[in-house]
Amino acid sequence: MHTFEFTRPENSTAAIATAAKAKTAQQGADVRFVAGGTTLIDLMKLNVETPARLLDINRLPLDKIEATPDGGLKIGATVRNSDLAHHAAVQRDYAVLSQALLSGATAQLRNMATTAGNLLQRTRCMYFRDTAMPCNKREPGTGCPAITGSNRTLAVLGTSEHCIATNPSDMCVAIAALEATIHVQGPKGTRAIPMGDLHLLPGSTPQRETVLEPGDLITHVTLPPPIAGSKQVYLKLRDRASYEFALASAAIVITVAGGKVTRARVALGGVGTKPWRSPEAESALVGKSADTANFRKAAEAALRDAKPQSENGFKIELAKRCLTHALQMAATG
Ligand SMILES: Cc1cc2nc3c(=O)[nH]c(=O)nc-3n(C[C@H](O)[C@H](O)[C@H](O)COP(=O)(O)OP(=O)(O)OC[C@H]3O[C@@H](n4cnc5c(N)ncnc54)[C@H](O)[C@@H]3O)c2cc1C
Ligand code: SF4
Repeated sequence: MHTFEFTRPENSTAAIATAAKAKTAQQGADVRFVAGGTTLIDLMKLNVETPARLLDINRLPLDKIEATPDGGLKIGATVRNSDLAHHAAVQRDYAVLSQALLSGATAQLRNMATTAGNLLQRTRCMYFRDTAMPCNKREPGTGCPAITGSNRTLAVLGTSEHCIATNPSDMCVAIAALEATIHVQGPKGTRAIPMGDLHLLPGSTPQRETVLEPGDLITHVTLPPPIAGSKQVYLKLRDRASYEFALASAAIVITVAGGKVTRARVALGGVGTKPWRSPEAESALVGKSADTANFRKAAEAALRDAKPQSENGFKIELAKRCLTHALQMAATG
């Protein structure tokens, strides 16, 4: 039975100083912040995570949703997914985020899950969650049984010969399309990380999932001011209608004027090793007529580099249809 020390730091400075003593902020970290616990405690029960110290950050003052001076939104790290999804400003100006959050997990889980915890949730790859199996992400150098094994739900974009695990988050896909910024306070001060730079591709170091270092506490996420007249959609395709992760999903923030797309932000979920923003789809859309043929061309562009494994080739066509349909919904909504 794994034992650990559980403390509630009085303030962020104390939490960061303790966490900075950890060897890593990645897989195998010996000190971990805990927020809702819906990822971390799950993985501790499976012995996939075995931290010696847990720092409960729920009492830190990081639970507010506030307007920013530039007209954007500041979302505290411990804001619960359900509070964020139902916030009036989010429903009005960032509907894609509200839709993505409400498509995830269950009401009970969303009541616990936090903004920062959702950003850092781990893959659902079955080999990662089973300590009887080898897994490069959990134990570097042991191999990736998913490549020759069960990979139906795993990634087709951003994979490497060392890991093909999918990033499972819905929220991350929406905030990638919204061009969020992640704010971190660490031992050396504060820094702002564009959403697209937070997560790393697996490459030859799949155990390293983000750019975070020991002691880095995510304090809040900011969203830029809403784009006037933009249409937003989150479409999630999965094996069953609730309590299930995406096989393919699409987050769309699009502006159409005079029948033409004037601005497009597109991100995909369920198919990438990280939340997958698609500049290829965006540039295929801008300046073109907002019609199904051009939406399909954008989807083809988004999946051009997709690499199927033995069981997940269907995801490529599924993701194309998901993106095409989401664009149709946004353009006509
Ligand atoms: C059965 C089930 C179904 C689910 N279905 C979905 C789904 O359909 N879609 C979806 O998107 N998600 C789904 N999830 C995942 C869920 O959204 C995440 O577990 C949740 O968002 C994690 O948030 P948390 O606050 O509980 O994180 P925690 O478990 O508390 O923490 C997760 C990680 O983040 C770190 N951390 C937390 N806060 C901070 C911080 N401020 N700074 C730095 N590090 C921090 C922790 O150390 C830990 O490593 C599901 C989960 C379960 C259990
Ligand atoms: S896909 Fe990644 S997480 Fe899954 S077994 Fe391979 S290395 Fe591990």
